[in-house]
Amino acid sequence: MKINYIEQQCKSVLHKISKSNLPFKWGVNPFRGCLHSCIYCFARYTHSYLDLDPSKDFETTIIVKMNSPQILRKELSKPKWKKEFVILGSVCDPYQPAEKKYQLTREILKVFRQYRSPLTIATKSDLITRDIDILSEMSQEMFVNIVMSVSSISPKAAKKLEPRAPSTVRRLQAISKLRDAGLKVGILLMPVVPFINDSDGEIESLFEAIANAGANFVIPGILYLQGASKNRFFDFIKEEFPELESKYKQFYSTRSPPKYYRTKKQLLFRTLIKKYQLDDYNTLKPENQSEQLTIEHWLKKEGKGDK
Ligand code: SF4
Repeated sequence: MKINYIEQQCKSVLHKISKSNLPFKWGVNPFRGCLHSCIYCFARYTHSYLDLDPSKDFETTIIVKMNSPQILRKELSKPKWKKEFVILGSVCDPYQPAEKKYQLTREILKVFRQYRSPLTIATKSDLITRDIDILSEMSQEMFVNIVMSVSSISPKAAKKLEPRAPSTVRRLQAISKLRDAGLKVGILLMPVVPFINDSDGEIESLFEAIANAGANFVIPGILYLQGASKNRFFDFIKEEFPELESKYKQFYSTRSPPKYYRTKKQLLFRTLIKKYQLDDYNTLKPENQSEQLTIEHWLKKEGKGDK
């Protein structure tokens, strides 16, 4: 598969997150597009703004923001910057394979460290362990934590859903390494995908695995589909799981599965969060942030769009 890396200069890096169930006010993304190619990826629509195809081009044409560390330094140095909560990787994975070559994420970490600006890093990649040295230094001086996204205990399901992302085993090993280095690591246990990785047994095994790896907290979530991501996912179901096509049409007539399904899974999540003691969601937030979210609060917010 041929990958096009398009190197560009950007004018700004920090972007405001207006609609989010999570407590992040700002996002940073050194790359646009993502080679990990997760079928359900919500960020696919961003390629249509570039007149590129959100299905194929999103996975093969990666925009590299070459000057992002320098522009971020200018933005964080402004007196008006109030050190609000930032997530690195709000749209596209900052540790996707392009980072091996460009090392922009590593430079961006140094900028956050220079300004002691609180940071969460979201990724699916064990490449983050490359930066344990700088992350450890940061954690001595400022608020920093990591959220690793993990969806499936079954290697087969993970390979189908996230074809070019590191395996679940590699991610679990990365979580252990980060925890051994004293870093806070939370898990985005998502998406739970109806009929593919969603049996109660599989979900519990995944909770057990992340608890054994030492994760501090978990935020679970069920597959949500809209726009370009929905089209891509429906094509995938047609190709890979044709027997599920009519079920999916019923289940996703709106953006989420039916309420009875969500309620049942949320009950399971709550039970498992308690059982495996993974409820320390407040470690996600720097102490100086006023809003104190809890898992219960977050799950309630997640269900806000209930039909
Ligand atoms: S790792 Fe994240 S950004 Fe990359 S394809 Fe998967 S969901 Fe999208």
